Amino acid sequence: MEPLLRDTYVEINLDNIAYNMRKIKEIVGSDVSIAAVVKADGYGHGAADIAETIMENGGDFLAVATLTEALQLRKRFKDYKIFIMGYTPDEYLEYVVINNIVQTIFSMRQAKILSELGMKHNKNAHVQIKYDTGFNRLGYKDCQESIEEIDNIFDLKNLEVDGIFSHFALAGKKEDEEQYEKFMNAVEKLEAMGRKFKFKHICDSISGIDYPQYRLNMIRPGAIVYGLKSYKDDSVKLKQAMTFKTRIYHIKTLEKGEGLSYDYLWKAERKSLVGTLPFGYADGYPRNLRDKGYVTINGKKAPIIGVICMDQCMVDLTDIPEAKVGDEAVIYGDGTYNTMDINEASRLAGTNKNEIVCRITRRTPRVYIKDNKFYKLSNYLLQE
Ligand SMILES: *Cc1c(COP(=O)(O)O)cnc(C)c1O
Repeated sequence: MEPLLRDTYVEINLDNIAYNMRKIKEIVGSDVSIAAVVKADGYGHGAADIAETIMENGGDFLAVATLTEALQLRKRFKDYKIFIMGYTPDEYLEYVVINNIVQTIFSMRQAKILSELGMKHNKNAHVQIKYDTGFNRLGYKDCQESIEEIDNIFDLKNLEVDGIFSHFALAGKKEDEEQYEKFMNAVEKLEAMGRKFKFKHICDSISGIDYPQYRLNMIRPGAIVYGLKSYKDDSVKLKQAMTFKTRIYHIKTLEKGEGLSYDYLWKAERKSLVGTLPFGYADGYPRNLRDKGYVTINGKKAPIIGVICMDQCMVDLTDIPEAKVGDEAVIYGDGTYNTMDINEASRLAGTNKNEIVCRITRRTPRVYIKDNKFYKLSNYLLQE
């Protein structure tokens, strides 16, 4: 293995991602396609480094939010189907067409631009229509004029409408059902007008698991690919793919009454053993986990004490006297052996699991495990 060059790193278990993908495929069945969501650098797992595992284990599309995310993947993978779920500004749509990327649209303006670009490059631009059923973020407003405009989009040359989709607000069972009904009404109207959609979809991770009746023929799972559970169905067991680790790099004793870190917000109430760890909020660790977070050393919880710095933080080792410099500290584990899993981290930090994983920055190297052994190191800052 190349040198890590740092004691703080994220370990990504590709076997777990493969397991999760196969499990999702098994649950939804062969009639439902999977657009695996790898935006935000694969929720911090490294989109380019996990893409093959996803596509080899049941993925049909790689779904991203932005054009640059799509282009990053296209550079590495010539043949994978890539789908931008977000908006691409008019002046960049040519990149979409040249690189055979499926673009989300919700206006005749962009449909026409893409059609013209298709003619210019002598190919078909591929799009999916975003239909807003209440989230009020992106998409055609739910009304008759929208239906007519979508109908007209089908007549444009060198433009292929591959699908139509919407997104749940997950506001509640009743609200979700209303959104689904609105979506299906629109789809059925268009189908009655003779329009065909290869893909119809509205489910993300949570809805994809908890609402089998709304899966249609595609789902867009993100969180569950990485083994993050927010859905309710407890019979579905997935495996968290990410572990976040570091090592103790300094230990000292504080006398009762001594403070530490900025503003001395923590003060020793007893003679204390304090360890310093080389990770901080610049690595994506939530700064508000002060006095709440902990790392796990030798299977024991070491509370984070004092203000969390940009690059370092301190832990109380008084009750782990055997700890020594170089010992491994688990920042996020899978919840076993007294480790904090991503679910607990998100709860303590007052946010959701997706934010916890995608905020881990590129300063932190990713180490990939495949077939239970070291597979690859991605040290982003040293990559060209
Ligand atoms: C991010 C995103 C998803 C995936 O969401 P998860 O909750 O992680 O499954 C699905 N669809 C759209 C449109 C998204 O933006």
